[in-house]
Amino acid sequence: TIGMIAIDGDNHIHAGTSTNGLSYKISGRVGDSPIPGAGAYADNEVGAATATGNGDVLMRFLPTLLAVEAMRAGKTPAQAAEIGIRRVLKHYTNFFGAVIAVNRLGEYAVSCYGWEEFSIVVSSPLKSGPNTRIETVNCL
Ligand code: ASP
Repeated sequence: TIGMIAIDGDNHIHAGTSTNGLSYKISGRVGDSPIPGAGAYADNEVGAATATGNGDVLMRFLPTLLAVEAMRAGKTPAQAAEIGIRRVLKHYTNFFGAVIAVNRLGEYAVSCYGWEEFSIVVSSPLKSGPNTRIETVNCL
């Protein structure tokens, strides 16, 4: 899955996913990517989140909705992304996935599990350095 979150010039926040699905998937399977709250979720008042990984597991816990609601409740993007991943982990430790969370100010974070590390591409005027770059985090 490629998950994308963007804040436009009118401060509208957008989230989307593009996926070819899991390897060896059953024909006709609908994964988490097109399901609001599972693959992606956005709310202009709060921020947005996207998820990637084992969609058959992830979609049972709506991790992107959880992350956005956590930010609404005052959590940072880092805390919110981890809340999304930890909810899945509470029930399944045998999965791989990542949640990216961005608040309406453009602050962002990623939490991941099942891989050693996870990389995102960031284009943000909030940070110094090159405008578009790759950032890598260690997974839980
Ligand atoms: N989440 C996708 C799916 O299960 C796969 C992926 O993230 O690559 O369809």
